[in-house]
Order: sequence, then C-alpha cells, then structure tokens
Amino acid sequence: MTFDKLNIIAPILKALETEGYTNPTPIQEQSIPHLLQGSDLSGAAQTGTGKTAAFTIPMLQLLEQGALVSKHPNNKLRALILAPTRELAIQIGESISSYGRNLRFRHAVIYGGVPKNQQIRAMRGNPDIVVATPGRLLDLMGMGVVKLDSISFFVLDEADRMLDMGFIHDIRKIVAKLPPARQNVFFSATMPSDIRQLANTILRDPVNVAV
Ligand code: AMP
Repeated sequence: MTFDKLNIIAPILKALETEGYTNPTPIQEQSIPHLLQGSDLSGAAQTGTGKTAAFTIPMLQLLEQGALVSKHPNNKLRALILAPTRELAIQIGESISSYGRNLRFRHAVIYGGVPKNQQIRAMRGNPDIVVATPGRLLDLMGMGVVKLDSISFFVLDEADRMLDMGFIHDIRKIVAKLPPARQNVFFSATMPSDIRQLANTILRDPVNVAV
C-alpha cells in the first residue's frame, strides 16, 4: 500500500514525499479513507503508530477541498484538535506545518504555562485550525478570543491521558460549545469503559479502528 492509493491530493503527497514517508502505517491506512468520506472515527492507537498523521492529513485535505464550511463568514476556524499536554500540542502543530507545507491555511497552537499575548495575536490572524490544551483554550474562550461556533472538524487526542490528568470537566465544557453538525475523531491508547462512555457522548455512528 502506498499513500497515493488513499486518494490523498497531490500537494499533501508531495509533502509526505519530502518528509520521507513512503507507506502509510496501519492506523493511517485504516483511518484516512473513512475520514476523507466524512465519517466519525474512534481509534485505539498508541503514540508512535503514526496516529497524528492519520487525522492531520484528512483534516488538511478536507479543509483544502472546501469540505469544512464555516457558518460564520468572519470566523474561519473550522478545525479544533485537543491534546492533553503542551508537548503534544506543539508536536501536532509541527505535523500540520509539515504535511500542509504546500497548502495555504493558518493554524494556531494554544497551551498553558506561557504568556497569552502571542496566542491572542495568533487568534487575531483568524486561523483555520487550532491545536489546544483544554485549560488555556477555555481561558481564551472566556476572554472572547477563541470562538468555537464555526468548528466542523473536532479531534480529541489521547483521551485516556486527558482523563488521567483530570480534564474531563474542561472537555465537556468545550464540547458543549461546538456546533452539533461536525465530524469527530477520538483517539486513545486504551479504551476502558469510562473512555468509551466519553467517546459515545462525542461521536456519531463512528468507524472503530484499532492497531
Ligand atoms: P505519532 O504516532 O503520530 O506520534 O507518529 C510517530 C512518528 O512516526 C512521528 O515521528 C512521525 O513523523 C512518524 N510517521 C508517521 N507516519 C509515518 C509514515 N507513514 N511513514 C514513516 N514515518 C511516519
């Protein structure tokens, strides 16, 4: 299996080639076609499996193809990725820059433990994509700097770690602000019952993949 068999558009294929990727990993092979078709997806996958590209590539492609539409003409923010830690948020941001190197879009990465100024400025640039940790995102939402009413693609990454870190209430507050019509992606290394319950409240008729 090669990436071009997954119907990935040329500018992204070219970026993957630049990156030195020749074949999709199992999680990518199983996830990308469903996400490109607009399905919700629940993935059981650890770090190191290539899960970041499994949701980042289709997100960028759907955005590029105009499949992710904002109901608010002055708010371009259509994709939100929630990550449990600053390190992971930064890594996801780097993946977006890399796989999207031949596309035109803006993204912002938002996390706690640093001053807000730069993140506020990034939001004023009207990004298409935000990668965020839950606490700082809620903070900026409270300030009116981030509005989620135009999101149509939502990713919750490392859900089990989110729960371990006590983010469940933050996640529920954030999800409550998302428009109901949206595509959802849920990734977790493990899928115990509390994680499945959370997934059930977010996902609609998901495709389940596990590696
Ligand atoms: P992740 O599981 O998303 O943290 O990715 C683990 C590592 O695998 C990252 O360093 C990626 O750059 C790399 N990677 C992801 N997909 C591929 C691929 N198809 N071929 C080679 N390396 C990959």
